[in-house]
Amino acid sequence: RAKKDGPGKVVVFEPAMHAEALARLTLTADLKHALAADQFRLLYQPLIHLDSGRATGVEALIRWARPGSGSPAAAFAPPAGFVPPAGFLPLAEENGMITDIGRWVLRTAGAQAAEWRRVFPELTLNVNVSGRQLTDPQFAADVERTLTDTGLPAAAITLELTESVLMSDPRTAVACLADLRDLGVGLAIDDFGTGYSSLSYLQRLPVDELKIDRAFISRAEPTAADLAVIRTVVELARTLKLRTVVEGVETGEQHAAMRELGCDHGQGYHLCRPLAPENIPAAFAQPLVV
Ligand code: C2E
Ligand code: MG
Ligand code: MG
Ligand code: MG
Repeated sequence: RAKKDGPGKVVVFEPAMHAEALARLTLTADLKHALAADQFRLLYQPLIHLDSGRATGVEALIRWARPGSGSPAAAFAPPAGFVPPAGFLPLAEENGMITDIGRWVLRTAGAQAAEWRRVFPELTLNVNVSGRQLTDPQFAADVERTLTDTGLPAAAITLELTESVLMSDPRTAVACLADLRDLGVGLAIDDFGTGYSSLSYLQRLPVDELKIDRAFISRAEPTAADLAVIRTVVELARTLKLRTVVEGVETGEQHAAMRELGCDHGQGYHLCRPLAPENIPAAFAQPLVV
């Protein structure tokens, strides 16, 4: 299959081409059309207040309904048949498509959250942001535009960034984060504890929330060291007045242990799986776990 790739440019697949390179080429070509063809979907995973078992907010998680990636029936029943972020976001970051995709995520999730907030006024929205988006000079303006277009208050949105993103280009990050802080949006450090950590940045940057990576609780039997890390992060967060969210809560035992350690919020399959948007209102109507 040959594909037109911009004016006058035709990519011809040589028989000798490795299967991997071929797959990458078709992936790139398909990804270029995915936005225009409306093939992205968002799932929303509730953030759960561990003491009450109630959902307080949602994190938007992108999926790609790539034609041919699953059975036709599965396309209507996410997440089966959907390409997970790991299957296309690295490529989108490399070739810059993440900027447009990220803008779509922000606007779609923002509009959706504004709608839900008419019924659940306290619902908050977390959106993942990649490093490439942060270096886009338009980014803060895009966030502001989303707020004005949707009527969502800035305090209802928290942007999730990883430590590695903040560390790879600290100066750009600091400038962009200052603009975002002026808008009033929240900032979370995602996968906290896995990156290169100079903890001093927590004081320099306008951080509101630490999301403790699931690596620390994902073992069937968390080690004493794992628990010590979590305890220390919770303590640090309390001192700096940051919210804590522990990721990857998969069992009732883990839920109880994290509650005991004083962690505010959690996310994970035991608490609630990522949901299709139509299932979110039911998740906010009553406590999900006790
Ligand atoms: P993340 O932001 O750390 O999101 C948490 C990931 O853990 C999600 O994977 C979620 O489905 C999964 N998860 C939730 N609960 C559990 C659990 O109990 N156990 C396990 N093993 N996993 C759990 P997902 O949806 O595949 O997303 C992977 C990553 O892709 C995200 O990690 C985030 O870094 C990135 N991502 C997702 N959506 C977006 C987006 O819209 N924009 C950007 N830039 N990145 C995104
Ligand atoms: Mg996240
Ligand atoms: Mg995370
Ligand atoms: Mg993670």
